[in-house]
Amino acid sequence: MKAWVNGEFLPEEQVRVSLLSHSFSRGSAIFETFDVTETARGPALFRPDAHVERFINSAEALHVPLPAGKEELIDILKTAVRTNSMSSGGVKLFAYYSEPEFRLIPKERSAKLAVFCFELSGIFGEGCGESTKPLTAGMSTIRKSSPSFLPVHAKACGLYVGGFLALSEAVEQGYDDVIMLDELGFVAEGAVKNVFFVKDGAVITPKLRNVLPGITRNSVIEVARGLDLPLAETDVTPEQALASDEAFYTGTHIRVCPIRSIDGKEIGAACPGPVTGNIRAALNNAYAGRDERYESWLTYIG
Ligand code: PMP
Repeated sequence: MKAWVNGEFLPEEQVRVSLLSHSFSRGSAIFETFDVTETARGPALFRPDAHVERFINSAEALHVPLPAGKEELIDILKTAVRTNSMSSGGVKLFAYYSEPEFRLIPKERSAKLAVFCFELSGIFGEGCGESTKPLTAGMSTIRKSSPSFLPVHAKACGLYVGGFLALSEAVEQGYDDVIMLDELGFVAEGAVKNVFFVKDGAVITPKLRNVLPGITRNSVIEVARGLDLPLAETDVTPEQALASDEAFYTGTHIRVCPIRSIDGKEIGAACPGPVTGNIRAALNNAYAGRDERYESWLTYIG
């Protein structure tokens, strides 16, 4: 697939940054990932405005001046999807400094934009789409950063070292995925996923304090309301997580992904449980354009 870089389409392997660039050496690049979903009206970007708003917030948090505004960014994404003739898949948007820079504060503050399109199956296998297979999760000893240390609500490359280490620890212990706690000991999120729990029919998810404001987290809250399910954003203790009847991760490409066990303890009798199944079906309908209540979430490419 061809990458869009500052107004030009290039073969992906020709996109370069200096190893001395601020984005590489200090981890200051910011990014956003979008889902291209198949609908009866052709391919559509799922909630690109919400993703682009988060991208703009990430840029502000990292002091990266963006060379384009919201509408222009959405147009660039649509052009990249169209040029690569995608019917579904993923799109990754970056803003970054590409040139050599030794200073801690970059002198030349002109950020570039790059857009990469990719097929999901090649990268994530069965790990994304309408019916992701249930995962085992382990709670890591590595805590999620607090907003008083780092801008945890931003998607900046340097912020992902913590999640990378936490996930590595869980995988080394034999789990598929990880649940990170925050500095107070409450459940925060996965390395690149938000997390939800169900107890006695009620859905809970950790407050936004320490977690990325996931677009899918927000979509799940909306569809749960549409299903008249009780839902609360609240502090969740590890004990509550372990005692839940159902648990699931959320993310742009995985959508709703059931959690089968936590720290080796089976969660619920069936996986996915009934509430997870209903939320997943409702969200899949929204992605596919089958529920007109969520029609505004789709931006058609055609
Ligand atoms: N938390 C983190 C740290 C993430 O990187 C992601 C992926 N963007 C998520 C949660 C899920 O967010 P979204 O639903 O917007 O993909």
